[in-house]
Amino acid sequence: MSKINRSISTKDTSILIANAGGRCSYNFNNDICNKVLADGRVNLGERAHIIGVNGPRSEFKTNDLELNGYENLIWLCKDHHAIIDHPTNLNVFTVFELHNMKSRHEQRVRTGRLPYFGTETSVQDYASLCTLFLFLDIHALYGNVASFPRIHINFYDVEDMYEAYCMDNPPSLSLFEPLLRDRFDRFINCYFDLANHLRGLPNIKEDQFSGWMEKQFDQVSYQKVVIYLESVESLISIIDQRFPQILQQDVYNAFD
Ligand SMILES: [Zn+2]
Repeated sequence: MSKINRSISTKDTSILIANAGGRCSYNFNNDICNKVLADGRVNLGERAHIIGVNGPRSEFKTNDLELNGYENLIWLCKDHHAIIDHPTNLNVFTVFELHNMKSRHEQRVRTGRLPYFGTETSVQDYASLCTLFLFLDIHALYGNVASFPRIHINFYDVEDMYEAYCMDNPPSLSLFEPLLRDRFDRFINCYFDLANHLRGLPNIKEDQFSGWMEKQFDQVSYQKVVIYLESVESLISIIDQRFPQILQQDVYNAFD
């Protein structure tokens, strides 16, 4: 599970977004983006690496640098993330320049020259969910089970990944908005209920090659599947209303 330690924590994400005032940090000469990326409802920012893990500027990695820590990240909109990482711009957006860009932006936020419209709790909720769904593939939560009585073996990975997330990010998922918290709690309870139930069933056929497992139709399993799928749907629908960017983000991949 060493790959999990390399992902960005909720704490670092929160500090990054809060210090950036929820706005794109890009500023260069007279060109200032300052787009609102976290306005309390919708968050559209990206956590860009100043020194890449394997990507742009990764040749400047040193052993003592925490690549996924706040110090090595800059909060940007999607467009400016692409611009700073574009191969033809790497001689302009050097490690030195990106650190300067970040501190100029944070300085403007601190001194009140750039107002901050987000609420602290919504940024915290966004950071928690954003980090969690780097561990869990939010679309697979539904897809792995939707073909019941065939269930994808990766369904069981959710348990390991959720526990890994909780270990790396104590206290585990602390969501501030009650509705969001209720829907998440319902989802995770339904998940564990179904997983424990399936594990206790005899004669599940596993097809290692395709990754699907099957069993004879069973009424109790069917009811638990329906309840689980409803809980995933209601969670995804509130995330789509609050933080649609989370639905588009890639699951963390250690081999990128
Ligand atoms: Zn921007």
